[in-house]
Amino acid sequence: MPFRLRSVRFRLTFWYVLTLAVILAASGVYWDRSLHRSLVGHMDEKLLLVAENAKAFHLQDHQDRPAPHACRSLETFIRSRNWSQYVQFLSPLGSVSCYTGNLKGFFLPASSEALQGARSGEPYFETIKLSKGQRIRLLSFPLVVDGELLDIIQVGDELDPIDQTLHQNRVLLLWFSPLLLVFLAVAGWFVTGRALSPVLRITSAVRKISAENLSERLPVEPSGDEIAHLQETFNSMLQRLEDSFTKVRQFTGDASHELRTPLAILRGETEVALRFAKDPQEWHRTLESNMEEIDRMGRIIEDLLALAKSEAGEIPLALTEVNLNDLMQDLYLQGKTLGDQKDVAFTLQLLVNQEIILCGDALQLHRMLLNLVSNGVKYTPSGGAVELSLAVEGSMAIIKVVDNGMGIAEEHFPHLFDRFYRVDEARNRDIGGTGLGLSIVQWIARGHGGDVAVSSTPGKGSVFTVSLPLGGPAEQP
Ligand code: ADP
Repeated sequence: MPFRLRSVRFRLTFWYVLTLAVILAASGVYWDRSLHRSLVGHMDEKLLLVAENAKAFHLQDHQDRPAPHACRSLETFIRSRNWSQYVQFLSPLGSVSCYTGNLKGFFLPASSEALQGARSGEPYFETIKLSKGQRIRLLSFPLVVDGELLDIIQVGDELDPIDQTLHQNRVLLLWFSPLLLVFLAVAGWFVTGRALSPVLRITSAVRKISAENLSERLPVEPSGDEIAHLQETFNSMLQRLEDSFTKVRQFTGDASHELRTPLAILRGETEVALRFAKDPQEWHRTLESNMEEIDRMGRIIEDLLALAKSEAGEIPLALTEVNLNDLMQDLYLQGKTLGDQKDVAFTLQLLVNQEIILCGDALQLHRMLLNLVSNGVKYTPSGGAVELSLAVEGSMAIIKVVDNGMGIAEEHFPHLFDRFYRVDEARNRDIGGTGLGLSIVQWIARGHGGDVAVSSTPGKGSVFTVSLPLGGPAEQP
């Protein structure tokens, strides 16, 4: 993978290293502070121990203020314990009365805070710097007997060893941290590279996919991780794209095929008329036939437009309260007119005992039912019967169009609602269908939150059942 500042790989590594650097810095500072606190704490304990021993020794041997000779025995006592601290006795006013031999040429200073602390009976710890630059940890310890402050014992120790230990620790941290960061940056770069390599594979595979090879699929990693999930998602998106491309292709092919037939008839008849027609009657016949084909093309285009618009969501349903009883009466009148034209009995059955109000688009509902009614009449031979009925089951309105016409074989059921699907191409063309009617029926029924179903027996008749929720669609389609 090439190095790019904006690449995910670089950004991941950068933030990972930056976070580690901040964690390392914070933990380094914390570690330094705690080490310092613990070492000084140990030293303070030691100073307190020396002070308490010096006090005990002093009170045991010399009840009074230490005299110069007593100082020497104190020195011997301290050395016998192998202690190297500086020890110095002060009077309550702060003058030096006794000190160990290691205090050559200097005294331990007594700050006013230390004297104040000792006078109030509290040991007082402080860190001081001598004129030679030595840093000393100093304890001023009150020697109190019977509530009276006899002396102040000062015990000091050099902080040099502690400072050295802390310094070594800091040097180690300052060297070790950048090295660790460099190592982690390199490791992070490789790990992110490995983790992102499937993304590169997906990118190059996706780049090769175009409208011509939509059937290609990405190989799915067996790991079952997020990347595999992404590949599966891509594949299902490709599947959907392929399906809709196929539908668009089929639709374009079907539409042009449907329009080509009446156009060819139009052309053929016009050519024949131009060549051979002599009298006005012949011209009239040709023009009449042409008119039929033009009407047919007009119907196809209108239906196609309605379907295309509905799929693009450009025909929002104008939902109002629709009185289904009234709608049934309208359809009955239209169905009767259609039936009368070819001697098909048309009846209406209202299996309800009150007015049924449904939330829907009156115009589209009318269009849907008229399609079913006119199909019923169209595909029922003379002498047959078609019945339109309305019932209510629970919260659903059930509208049925039952005919005793030619019927439909079961194998056609799955495709019946597809665009341009016709059970019998040749016969249906004669009848004048576009093959779009049932697609429109299905779209309108589903748009209202309902559906349409068919049951039929060839030679006996068909039943188309539309079920619609009375409350209307759950959401606007
Ligand atoms: P068309 O405009 O051809 O009628 P439709 O989409 O309305 O198109 O119907 C699709 C096909 O279903 C029709 O071509 C016809 O073969 C069949 N069909 C529809 N309704 C009936 C029916 N009531 N009886 C028998 N066949 C039917």
